[in-house]
Amino acid sequence: MIHYREPLFRPPAEGDSLIFQAAYGCPHNGCRFCMMYKGVRYHERELDEILKDFREGARLYPETMRIFLADGDVMSFSFPKLKAMLEELNRLFPFLARVNTYANGSSILLKKEEELKELHRLKLNTLYVGLESGDEEVIRAVGKKESVGDMVDAVVKTQEIGFKCSVMILLGLAGKKGSPVHALKTAEALNNMQPRLLSALRFIEVPGTKMNEGYEAVTEHEAVSELKTIIEALELKKTVFRANHSSNPVPLSGRFPQDRDKLLAEVGWMLSSNMLDKKGPGRLPLFL
Ligand code: SF4
Repeated sequence: MIHYREPLFRPPAEGDSLIFQAAYGCPHNGCRFCMMYKGVRYHERELDEILKDFREGARLYPETMRIFLADGDVMSFSFPKLKAMLEELNRLFPFLARVNTYANGSSILLKKEEELKELHRLKLNTLYVGLESGDEEVIRAVGKKESVGDMVDAVVKTQEIGFKCSVMILLGLAGKKGSPVHALKTAEALNNMQPRLLSALRFIEVPGTKMNEGYEAVTEHEAVSELKTIIEALELKKTVFRANHSSNPVPLSGRFPQDRDKLLAEVGWMLSSNMLDKKGPGRLPLFL
């Protein structure tokens, strides 16, 4: 049996991957908007326990090609431990194509360039990185560990080596007042990063979320309007874009730069229709 402990999260794109939980929770666990691991005491599992799960996974699913390493920031593991894990995965799974994980910007930046190169050679491939906002003020207000500059550096550094970064942004994170600056600065940070993959999620306050005093949530219509401002300001050269998380009012996807006008037309149509709530958050996703 492979060991799992709830809660266990993975990005939507990892639905077909074999998941191993190398740690429980998130070592930072301090972002105000994030309820993923609240109540989970962070614990990095011992290498021999993790390798035991790998061996069990190889026995049950020997033809596995894609693996996702959970939980919140496996990149924070020491280089020797990560290397040992990846070497074992390469040995155990003959068809292995890629290993993906969530990664915080600070954990990436703490790794030396040669170390990152070695991890990539061992098939560590897609890093799911949360930018959330390109507005430094918003980033500080929500308790993120890294500055916007750190996040940009982390993505540029890893993509130059050959990693793919899947960058997440959060619509509505700055509230009503901060929305215009959040939108423009987020687009600016993304233009500096040039992520290979970009996901726009919508931030919705759930019970227990403690945003700063004065935070006023955007309506559904304002969230989509914010997305329009971001798309208009994006100058991406080769990015797959998705806004199809269940928090988004209508699923959107496309490629930059070629689908930019099509995406803007879809968003424009949504905004001029009567389908979006102009007074509140609209229909809430099932996970709330
Ligand atoms: S670093 Fe990521 S997982 Fe950890 S608290 Fe912040 S958003 Fe949540």
